[in-house]
Amino acid sequence: MDCLFCKIVAGEIPAEIVHTTDRTLAFRDISPKAPLHVLVVPRDHYANAAELAAADPETSAALVTSAAAVAAAEGYADYNLVYNTGAGAGQTIFHTHVHLLGGADLTGLVG
Ligand code: C5P
Repeated sequence: MDCLFCKIVAGEIPAEIVHTTDRTLAFRDISPKAPLHVLVVPRDHYANAAELAAADPETSAALVTSAAAVAAAEGYADYNLVYNTGAGAGQTIFHTHVHLLGGADLTGLVG
């Protein structure tokens, strides 16, 4: 399978990794949309968040706890987590990932 995020997990493509666990990898988004923009991915390949949650709920939860650890380490008490699911919702890489956004103002969009 030709998956960019599988290659980042395998160390075959460089990324600025900020946090790792046995289940997850977190790295800075190459095109940040907020002062803090980190992607947290499972080490194993699942196309989207729902597939991951159905197959491996512990790793699904680990994405959130990893994101929280990164936010805390970077000094963000408040942050947004976004899962784009499907091309129509802006998903471009079909290895599920959560966008950790700090310092972004999404209040008019979802709040
Ligand atoms: O949710 P979506 O699939 O659109 O997000 C993919 C994200 O992966 C984008 O924010 C893009 O900037 C990021 N990316 C990256 N490193 C790459 C390729 C894409 O951080 N080498």
